[in-house]
Amino acid sequence: MQAYTDTADVGHYINGQETSGAAQKRKDVFNPALGQVARQVIMADQNDVNQAVESAKRAFPAWADTSPLRRARVMFNFLNLMNEHRDAIAAIITAEHGKVFSDAQGEVSRAIDVIEFACGIPQLLKGDFTDQVATGMDNWTLRQPLGVVAGITPFNFPCMVPCWMFPVAIAAGNCFVLKPSERDPSASLYMARLFREAGLPEGVLNVVQGDKVAVDALLSHPDVKAVSFVGSTPIAQYIYEQAAHYGKRVQALGGAKNHLVVMPDADLDQAVDALVGAAYGSAGERCMAISVAVLVGSVGDQVVPLLAERAKALQVRNGMDPKAEMGPVVTREALERIENYIQVGVDEGASLVVDGRGYKVSGHENGFFTGGTLFDHVTPEMRIYKEEIFGPVLSCVRVDDFGAAIDLINGHEFGNGVSCYTRDGHVAREFGRRIQCGMVGINVPIPVPMAWHSFGGWQKSMFGDMHIYGEEGVRFYTKQKSIMQRWPESTGKGAEFAMPAPK
Ligand code: NAD
Repeated sequence: MQAYTDTADVGHYINGQETSGAAQKRKDVFNPALGQVARQVIMADQNDVNQAVESAKRAFPAWADTSPLRRARVMFNFLNLMNEHRDAIAAIITAEHGKVFSDAQGEVSRAIDVIEFACGIPQLLKGDFTDQVATGMDNWTLRQPLGVVAGITPFNFPCMVPCWMFPVAIAAGNCFVLKPSERDPSASLYMARLFREAGLPEGVLNVVQGDKVAVDALLSHPDVKAVSFVGSTPIAQYIYEQAAHYGKRVQALGGAKNHLVVMPDADLDQAVDALVGAAYGSAGERCMAISVAVLVGSVGDQVVPLLAERAKALQVRNGMDPKAEMGPVVTREALERIENYIQVGVDEGASLVVDGRGYKVSGHENGFFTGGTLFDHVTPEMRIYKEEIFGPVLSCVRVDDFGAAIDLINGHEFGNGVSCYTRDGHVAREFGRRIQCGMVGINVPIPVPMAWHSFGGWQKSMFGDMHIYGEEGVRFYTKQKSIMQRWPESTGKGAEFAMPAPK
């Protein structure tokens, strides 16, 4: 596959047209492997956001009235186009995010899973019906779309996370305004073009590029009925509070610090493979990345040397290189933040077993590369344990027994994903029941739920009630209506003044 090298500015997509909007402000978009500006993104102002919301509002009545089956047919066309263009999208992701191409292909596949789910919307929108709730009277419930809904997404999955939102919302009859990350904006525009080609009417999907200015305009806009957000915890909390303040429905998924417990009876080869892939895959820039290994009993003395060997041997290269196992991180600021955290860990007294700092890739001297880093003897008071580093840094914490592992994890402020490696069914069962996290893996390192199961963390990893995509997603993007109906014979009984009690 060819690298993506288009240098054209990345603009908005409003009312079925690509536009630069007011175009007052632009921001550089980098190729992280080269450390060079590849193109610029045009930043939306309040007026651009208003136009996107107005276009969505205009499109809403007709789209909401379109039968779910016809909406699903447009979704099937979109699904086919996404499958046809999956490698082109993956190349865009690698060019702007930096993750290796095979991992980017995996991201597109997981996005496609949600589109497939959304194709089942006629079945998903089926309501409940009770015949004869009282003599001659029936009662049923149905779900109707909300109107204009917005999605605000992070840099680390520029294709998959938008697809957690807009296919489900649009299939359910809503019109959508997407505000992708300004660091890797091209995938969103590419998908909007494909959806237009699939036959989506203009205005049903709009994309506004930008930052806080665009986000704040969406949050305060009276015609935006619901907001889905995925990103870091401080911003998730802000979005949750602001959206609620403006009377909107909101789901805001935040950051994470995911633990993987290795029990003494675990298959250690499997556990080490799992840790290496889940800690260093995508350079640790996954909300479900494992950043803490919890090593129970004596297992630490066996596991740490194996991890060290693997971390040192990681193939860190340009993501388009077929031999690459890990690419660069997204920006120079991210690189500096990650490498500063490594110094914090050293200063706090953790044992730095493998130091990834200062990693150079030949021919890519300006790229935002860091190697895999491994710490041992990390303790719960340390900042490198408590805070989300969001880079390829794995911290090993040693604990005496299973109970201590559970207490450690349940004491952390985040509760996104978690995993336990064991051969003991009772331990596995207890782990699943007692752990305070939204997504649990038993001998599975990154337990991202499939498209029909819904995704969401607990504690500070999510603000709001309903998880994203799956049936929870359908509920989030629709409101329930109950209809009670009778067609009485004309007996002329007169008005009833007491609360009716069905007989
Ligand atoms: P981020 O919070 O910086 O940005 C997310 C979105 O919010 C972007 O669209 C950005 O433009 C916007 N934004 C940034 N600052 C803002 C502000 N002050 N006001 C309003 N909007 C603002 O997150 P990121 O760096 O793009 O992504 C990485 C973070 O996302 C990590 O913390 C990661 O754990 C988290 N994440 C969570 C999940 C999950 O499902 N829980 C999934 C992916 C990523």
